[in-house]
Amino acid sequence: MTNSNQFSDTGPDQIYQKNLKNNQFELPKCTSCAKFHFFPRVVCPHCGSFELEWQPVSGKGEVYSTTTVRRKPERGGNYNVCLVTLEEGPRMMSRVDGVDSEIVSIGDQVIANIINDDNNSYVVFTPLKGA
Ligand SMILES: [Zn+2]
Repeated sequence: MTNSNQFSDTGPDQIYQKNLKNNQFELPKCTSCAKFHFFPRVVCPHCGSFELEWQPVSGKGEVYSTTTVRRKPERGGNYNVCLVTLEEGPRMMSRVDGVDSEIVSIGDQVIANIINDDNNSYVVFTPLKGA
């Protein structure tokens, strides 16, 4: 089956980006199996249903894996790349900001922050204090 809407202005990526621009972190939730997924798609990856609706997520998550990407200080220094499992279930690649990349550990509780650049909106995480 082909879906000609996949790359249109109203495709799942565009909706995801538009929500982030409005400082809303929302993900598609399947109304058939009640699971969230990421990246946003037009079909539920769990059960194949097309019945999806956008719902806000808490932004809370747990570090599933973490890596330090080494970079010379003059090029911005080391940074962190991680997989975070959201409270709602989906796992997303991101980074943990606000702490030394090396102390980020698997199982750390983190919270999402929306970053709006000039032409990009994306989600990074910071450690959840007092977790
Ligand atoms: Zn489903």
